[in-house]
Amino acid sequence: MTHNDIKKKILIVMTGGTIAMRYDVGEGVVPSDDLVNSIRSFPQLDEVAEINVHEFSNIPSPHMTPERMFELAKFVDISIIDYDGVVITHGTDTLEETAYLLDLVLTTRKPVVFTAAMRSGNEVGLDGPRNIIGAVRVASHPDSLDNGVLVVMNDEIHTARDVVKADTGMLNSFISQGNMSLGIIDNADVIFHRKSMHKEKIWTEKIDKNVDLIKATVGMDDRYIQASIDKKAHGLVIEAFGKGNLPPVLVPAIKRAIEAGIVVIIVSRTYTGRVLPEYGYDGGSISLVDIGALLGSDLRGPKARIKLMCLLGRYESADLVKKFY
Ligand code: ASP
Repeated sequence: MTHNDIKKKILIVMTGGTIAMRYDVGEGVVPSDDLVNSIRSFPQLDEVAEINVHEFSNIPSPHMTPERMFELAKFVDISIIDYDGVVITHGTDTLEETAYLLDLVLTTRKPVVFTAAMRSGNEVGLDGPRNIIGAVRVASHPDSLDNGVLVVMNDEIHTARDVVKADTGMLNSFISQGNMSLGIIDNADVIFHRKSMHKEKIWTEKIDKNVDLIKATVGMDDRYIQASIDKKAHGLVIEAFGKGNLPPVLVPAIKRAIEAGIVVIIVSRTYTGRVLPEYGYDGGSISLVDIGALLGSDLRGPKARIKLMCLLGRYESADLVKKFY
């Protein structure tokens, strides 16, 4: 036992991903049922907590959708009533988006911890089992309460808001972008270095998935913004350059989008840092704010999109949504 002698009750919710896959000659890496059986056979888990396992889905995470993510959130919020914490296994590709959506919409204060694997079931140097045991340790730990949704990978603890998959293949792929991790798992010990200061919640009964994301590139034209207007998007996130600047040719298109009722959020494609109303030239962030675009702080595009989906689900009026920026 670790921090005290009372075993915690933890629910492991499996959604799929490499952690639930194995390599098959001729087919490549594909979903398998091995994970359920192997979870039950780890004696280490039994020492840490009383475990129940629920298979929510068995999909690769590129098959995840906003609707499924929201269903998962509802499932976790209800199920956790009977548990001390929940661990969710997920594919690494879109884990940061699902974890962040749950971070925003869950009402529970109990630990909810995502984990995954960079290597599939029959690879040498498997990381999945170790990550699951680490996640269960974190979900059972009292210091994990009220820290928002957490992500455990490679013996490190991250917040859902900070974490990104930063490498396609390395075991240490998951990092807290621009920050040190929240803590570590050192053998049986869970050690938190810091607390998360972000406590943003959007308690909503539905989400609005009609939100597009566009990334700025040098010399781009306005065709993607026009496509969002034509498709009657409700929200549009633009990953701009630096502190929130764009080629001037996009300004009239953004103005048209805002006039058409689309909520436009500017974030940065730069690796870390906030967008700010600093540059006043044509296309600079001041000129975008002047026409009604909103600045999305230090979130990168995929998470800014998740946040806008939740806000537009909760508040129908764009004027109310604007108050959150
Ligand atoms: N493509 C896989 C997925 O996200 C990768 C993984 O799980 O690591 O489902």
